[in-house]
Amino acid sequence: MTGELFIDPQRCIGCRACVEACSECSGHGGTSMIHLDDLARTATVQTAPTVCMHCDEPACAAVCPADAISKGPDGVVHTAMTERCIGCSNCVLACPFGVPKYDARLDLMMKCDLCYDRTSVDLKPMCATVCPSGALFYGTRAEVEDRRQAQPRNVFQFGDEVVRTKISYMVPAHHEQIRVTESAEVVRSVAEQCLEEAIV
Ligand code: SF4
Ligand code: SF4
Repeated sequence: MTGELFIDPQRCIGCRACVEACSECSGHGGTSMIHLDDLARTATVQTAPTVCMHCDEPACAAVCPADAISKGPDGVVHTAMTERCIGCSNCVLACPFGVPKYDARLDLMMKCDLCYDRTSVDLKPMCATVCPSGALFYGTRAEVEDRRQAQPRNVFQFGDEVVRTKISYMVPAHHEQIRVTESAEVVRSVAEQCLEEAIV
């Protein structure tokens, strides 16, 4: 696997091509594993895609009592194994990025596995293949650093907790890491906070 996935929420135009492409994958039966978030709905039409960030130390796998989630040697955190997952939703609650979703129909947790059938043979994931604006870009770090003003960052600070990920967000170069803050009144996604950093 020579490429990496880079997310630039500022480039998202809300066309939903990524969602449609993801839901066409036969591996998850018509359900998209990519979520398109509407950010600050009352103030803007801005949207941003959310995929699994493939954490270096995945909280989802750490809390799974059935050992259903595994991380491969290439850093990809795989979706729950059907034969092991007991549908307890621990992973749904533990993920700092709000990624895994429990599918009651299948009694199974499902999440993005970085199109492993494609990326393991050096093909782009479906979402990055169809994204017309480069909000989802798959390539080498050198390529994205060379082409963009925003720079890739994959270190996130949630309170005292530092989370490193395989996937990067594009933010202004002066940010060495992305601080994710909490507020009792407003719930904001990581994408939304990255976007604020990019615009400020
Ligand atoms: S982003 Fe969430 S689902 Fe993905 S590896 Fe990290 S903890 Fe697991
Ligand atoms: S395909 Fe790209 S631009 Fe369109 S909604 Fe998805 S991320 Fe946004």
